[in-house]
Amino acid sequence: MFYTSTRDKSVKVTAAEAITNGISAEGGLYVPCEIPEIDRGFIEKLATLDYIGRAKEILSLYLTDFTESELDYCVNGAYKAGKFDCEAVAPTVELENGVSILELWHGPTCAFKDMALQLLPYLLTTSAKKTADGKQIVILVATSGDTGKAALEGFKDVENTNVLVFYPNDGVSAMQKLQMCTQEGNNVAVCAIKGNFDDAQTSVKSIFTSAEVKAKLAAENMMFSSANSINWGRLVPQIVYYFSTYCDLLNQRKIELGEKINIVVPTGNFGNILAAYYAREMGLPIKKLICASNANNVLTEFIESGFYNKDRDFYTTVSPSMDILVSSNLERLLFHLSGENDAFVKNCMEGLFEDGHYTVDKSVYEKIRGVFEGGCCDDTATKNTIGDIFSRFHYLCDTHTAVAVQVYYNYLEKTGDDTPCVIASTASPYKFSPAVLEAVGSKDAVGDDGFKMMQTLEALTGVKIPAPLAAIQNKPVRFDKVAARSEMTDVVLDMLGIQH
Ligand SMILES: *Cc1c(COP(=O)(O)O)cnc(C)c1O
Repeated sequence: MFYTSTRDKSVKVTAAEAITNGISAEGGLYVPCEIPEIDRGFIEKLATLDYIGRAKEILSLYLTDFTESELDYCVNGAYKAGKFDCEAVAPTVELENGVSILELWHGPTCAFKDMALQLLPYLLTTSAKKTADGKQIVILVATSGDTGKAALEGFKDVENTNVLVFYPNDGVSAMQKLQMCTQEGNNVAVCAIKGNFDDAQTSVKSIFTSAEVKAKLAAENMMFSSANSINWGRLVPQIVYYFSTYCDLLNQRKIELGEKINIVVPTGNFGNILAAYYAREMGLPIKKLICASNANNVLTEFIESGFYNKDRDFYTTVSPSMDILVSSNLERLLFHLSGENDAFVKNCMEGLFEDGHYTVDKSVYEKIRGVFEGGCCDDTATKNTIGDIFSRFHYLCDTHTAVAVQVYYNYLEKTGDDTPCVIASTASPYKFSPAVLEAVGSKDAVGDDGFKMMQTLEALTGVKIPAPLAAIQNKPVRFDKVAARSEMTDVVLDMLGIQH
């Protein structure tokens, strides 16, 4: 299996090269040249395996240049007992008849990013051994809150790596900020930037592709790689849990083998839902992929009209990990849906960069409509949903998951499509205590100290605070730097001890 670039089809690299490089030299994203197909027997077999076994089966279809023992080492290391606070790793629980929740936040940082970022360091160091002999890998991350912490936790003290995280100073929750700024480990650094997530992501991308900075690193035997969802090594682990949830539904006798399901994903950078698209293309029986957005509804408009327009107001919402106007992974979808038309993708991305918008042609638009539905909801609806779902089902969900739940019920009402449905739940409610607390009716406690709010929420709901979040209370803040966008390159070089 080889990988090519969304912006230049003459590119041909192995999985290890794609993962080590992170992004293709001309700025395109790596995509598999062919999407592997599976049959019913494959799903039947998966259903008999545990999460580690399922992950190995799926990954071996994509990472064909990894040996079996390398894959074993990677997958066992990432998902071994004790890393996730529940044996199933990513359990599927019923909300009501026909509606299940796929809980992706049982890892060490309590957000779905752990599903991939516990595995990525293994994939990356194994890849680098094959392709980048002996080079120190420098991971640059732009985060809307959860990726940063998950990357820090995944890479801390991993030999031959450094990880440096940039987050928007006013764009993450207090708990997310605290999680990052108290990070332990000898190869990590964290820096706030003045700007929003898109600013952070754009700047990181430009540092990443700057010939000048790359040369400075090369002189020190270092190279950049990426832990953002533009890295194929982030996406491929996410395909696994869509297969896994299907198997769980089979084992719970909620569906028959071959029966189609709908999947709803709270979406920001389009990574999580794109993984579901790959699963669908591989042959997992999925009818519709429902893309849920908050007030930053650039994707809702795109799915409805084929017009992508980032020139719009940017909202800071109670679901900050979805406060994104440039959804990077959409580029991969455009490549696949346009019949792998690299010139078309390049054109769209240039349009986005130069004019802030692009429109896809009719054939691509119709293909999008065949697979995707889009919907959005604002903060008020998000909080109402949290309260409503808690009082009806005694299920406590976080703000991002609530967006997906709300969008699903709107879709159901609009279309009457009651296909069995799985809603991806992307974070623990305790990562966003103020909004969740307000939603379940304890307005007075909002504004208390963050840990006090978690305790109030626990007392009120009986849902336990995840141990990693409770433990932060006793950790010192290690990182408090705030930089302008123009200073980011210097921050990178300083962290690595490179003269400039
Ligand atoms: C990152 C994140 C999302 C968005 O996922 P994408 O892959 O960027 O679409 C949604 N919810 C939470 C809690 C997240 O951390």
